[in-house]
Amino acid sequence: MEISRAALANNFRICRSKAGSAAVMPMIKADAYGHGMLECAGIFAAEGAAAFGVAETREGILLREAGFDQPVYVLVGVLPETVHEIIHYGLTPVIVDSAILPELSRQALKCDANVGIQIKVDAGMGRQGILPEDVPGIIRRINELPGLYLAGVMAHFPMADDVESSNTLDVFARFQSVTGIIETNNRRQPLLHIANSGGLFHFASTRLHMVRPGIALYGCYPEGEPHLELGGGKQLEPAMRFLTKVIQVRTVPPGTGLGYGQTFVTGRRTCLAVLPVGYEDGYLRCLSNRAEVLIHGRRVPVVGRVSMNLTLVDITDIKEEVHRGDEAVLLGRQGEEQITADQLADWMNTISYEVLCLLGNLNTRYYID
Ligand SMILES: *Cc1c(COP(=O)(O)O)cnc(C)c1O
Repeated sequence: MEISRAALANNFRICRSKAGSAAVMPMIKADAYGHGMLECAGIFAAEGAAAFGVAETREGILLREAGFDQPVYVLVGVLPETVHEIIHYGLTPVIVDSAILPELSRQALKCDANVGIQIKVDAGMGRQGILPEDVPGIIRRINELPGLYLAGVMAHFPMADDVESSNTLDVFARFQSVTGIIETNNRRQPLLHIANSGGLFHFASTRLHMVRPGIALYGCYPEGEPHLELGGGKQLEPAMRFLTKVIQVRTVPPGTGLGYGQTFVTGRRTCLAVLPVGYEDGYLRCLSNRAEVLIHGRRVPVVGRVSMNLTLVDITDIKEEVHRGDEAVLLGRQGEEQITADQLADWMNTISYEVLCLLGNLNTRYYID
């Protein structure tokens, strides 16, 4: 798994310029969508990341232990057993109900800390968070409890990848009806943030004080293909390439069944390249007889079942001779051709996010550029 630092930096710069005056908090959960959390945090910090977004407390601790001192938002909420660590490591608690507040206050006092609380509003995601009508009560509770203050209010868009839908602006309006009340009632201006990559790229009015791009930083467009025009020749660059090498080249006669289930029978004398990759590496079985791989800059089809450790591709139509040791690209660019995460996702009936997490986190990464 080859990860390009230059691509990550390029993508951050594009997000930063799109963000205008808003701060940028890169989302680096799931080991930075399979790209390696600490490496990515270093690159984004050097490019001006204002904070980092993770899902879980343990990720925040890893960042602190590696020396990152930016705010780190723990976005799935605060669990009772993590309150002490959140405060001890100076992580930013995101709360999804009021139940945890007394414990946060108790631990804040114990550590002699004044802890800024972020509240997650359910403005239409319907997954997690505080309903708009309950927000004033929660804020009152935060203001009552010693050691706590309201530092920010956030929500999340469920459909910002759908440019045509009115959902994003509806959710945004609901969010603003909540934050409007807060802004008039609170002395200290809380940080307001809602935009993911889709919001940042397609709904400029939603940028507020901070944006939280994830997928765009890793070089994929939230809406998948077709790509949107960024202007100035700027393009998001996929940062991940998944490579292997041909371990054997063999020719079989017409009528040969290939692999488990014999799901492919050759109709001609067929030249095959054997690749040492399989579902164990996240190259899932549903890619059987479906996906394509790049060899010598050409697309060649996967034939037969992908098995645990082996995959076959049909190289009969490649004019140049293929040899053992030749590079095969399962994701990313080779020569003029490219297999994008969206394309692979399409073959796997999923989205680029899942492809990046799966392949990135199952395989050994090395960094270039
Ligand atoms: C993952 C996540 C994001 C980033 O979403 P992308 O679509 O990858 O840009 C933003 N905000 C929250 C709360 C998230 O969990």
